[in-house]
Amino acid sequence: MSTTTSQHGLESLPFENRFARELPADPISENTRRQISEACYSRVLPTPVTEPSLVAYSQEVLDLLEINLPESDHQLFADVFSGNRILSGMDPFAMCYGGHQFGNWAGQLGDGRAINLGEVVNSRAENWTLQLKGAGPTPYSRTADGLAVLRSSVREFLCSEAMYHLGVPTTRALSLVLTGEQVMRDMFYDGHPQLEPGAVVCRVAPSFVRFGSFQIFAARQDLVNLRRLADYTIRHDFPHLDHADDTPTKETYIAWFAEVCKTTAEMIAHWMRVGFVHGVMNTDNMSILGLTIDYGPYGWLEDYDPDWTPNTTDATGRRYRFGQQPQIALWNLLQLANAIYPLVEDAKPLEAALDDYSSLFKESWHRMLAQKLGWAHFRPDTDDSLTDQLFSVLQLAETDMTLFFRSLANVSIDADRVDAASNDQLLTPLRDVFYRHEQLTDEVQGQIAEWLRAYAARSRADGSTPEERRVRMLSANPKYVLRNYLAQMAIDKAEQGDMELVGKLLDVLRHPYDDQPENDEFSAKRPDWARHRPGCSMLSCSS
Ligand code: AMP
Ligand code: MG
Repeated sequence: MSTTTSQHGLESLPFENRFARELPADPISENTRRQISEACYSRVLPTPVTEPSLVAYSQEVLDLLEINLPESDHQLFADVFSGNRILSGMDPFAMCYGGHQFGNWAGQLGDGRAINLGEVVNSRAENWTLQLKGAGPTPYSRTADGLAVLRSSVREFLCSEAMYHLGVPTTRALSLVLTGEQVMRDMFYDGHPQLEPGAVVCRVAPSFVRFGSFQIFAARQDLVNLRRLADYTIRHDFPHLDHADDTPTKETYIAWFAEVCKTTAEMIAHWMRVGFVHGVMNTDNMSILGLTIDYGPYGWLEDYDPDWTPNTTDATGRRYRFGQQPQIALWNLLQLANAIYPLVEDAKPLEAALDDYSSLFKESWHRMLAQKLGWAHFRPDTDDSLTDQLFSVLQLAETDMTLFFRSLANVSIDADRVDAASNDQLLTPLRDVFYRHEQLTDEVQGQIAEWLRAYAARSRADGSTPEERRVRMLSANPKYVLRNYLAQMAIDKAEQGDMELVGKLLDVLRHPYDDQPENDEFSAKRPDWARHRPGCSMLSCSS
């Protein structure tokens, strides 16, 4: 992108900092760990680090912020986005919130290692908050150190941007910086702590307010601040619901909650579309804007398995397994409804919005399923059973979800060809999508082929041209996702000091729906070495 007049060097970035200006601050300025009441945030400075160095940045996020970053500014950039240098106009603070973790109320959490630097306003009058993750302890750090390691930072950085390019609502990632320091982590909480390279990611979003931001005030029966934060959020992030100078009414809060239900439903449908498993859908990890937030032990479905969870902490209960994400989002929305109830004092409209969530999710999911399958519309009367069958068929043999849908566009739906084809011939375009060929018995192949025949018939009845079908399918079924083993390969190399694969993946994942034949290797299904390798199939919250 060429430099335009609206671009700024780092030193002249315009900041607005509405959150800090309009909401109550913790009056205590000491950075000590404690309970903070009647405040939305605590001012706190990042902890300086010894030797910040820039690993990667997202050009698209730079463009969003209208930052001009010549190579000569790279060190300054690393200084700023490791927290070593505070730019004029920044006003750093950590936010106060609570949340339900794994279904239990956990009290005050805050994001123990997140520090907001300030809000940049671009020439389109958009307000983007910059937030460092891993820049040292805050009053919300509880017993932890406030730091982050390279491993989890690479994962957050790459996945945020990959999700954006996939068209999934998400917070963004501006930068990935090494701190030059070592951090002790016991990756599997099994008594084997090791030193790992420390890193900081700068994430970017219009707001980092979470469901838990409201829950904390409700739990403390602090209705004054509950209302302040709700009114602030509506004023700035839902301005279309705001009636000029009027303070929000009961109806405004209801309309706001209904909208949160809608954007959340849409976000979850996208997760289900691309095979993303968040792994820790605690209410503190739910954005009020319906953005995917807090990339921790997330994972991507390899073989289609609705019961899969990447998070070892979740291995027994599987609360956050892939197939349960829509229901968990509803449970989380219910907690938000409980939290804002004092603003509405009427359960019925909140219940109605929660009821609507289920139909909104279904609507979004059906729309996306139709695209994935190449149809102009989803016809619930017939398509529900056909897609249910599909999700059973996908579990007959270990089937790579991403490759299956991508390759399905190559299956002919032409009546003569389908009628003349043997099971084996019908499955030819799909040969590569199965993990274990020995599972493809005649019986299994027969069942898959039977579904393909029904699918072909349904697709012909759709009336779309082959070109329309193909375009639809290729724009809803990515070829490239941040496969668990790819992220791990980039991490292994990065830990050796080789950052090339981080940059390469960032680049490939910019165009997840394009064929990119020169990058075919990054669309390959999980190799066998990664089947049980930590980081590839099992992840923990340690980060
Ligand atoms: P999560 O499950 O990742 O959302 O984390 C739960 C809570 O623990 C959040 O408030 C995190 O910010 C906090 N936390 C996790 N790791 C650290 C750390 N190293 N230092 C301080 N707080 C942390
Ligand atoms: Mg969190």
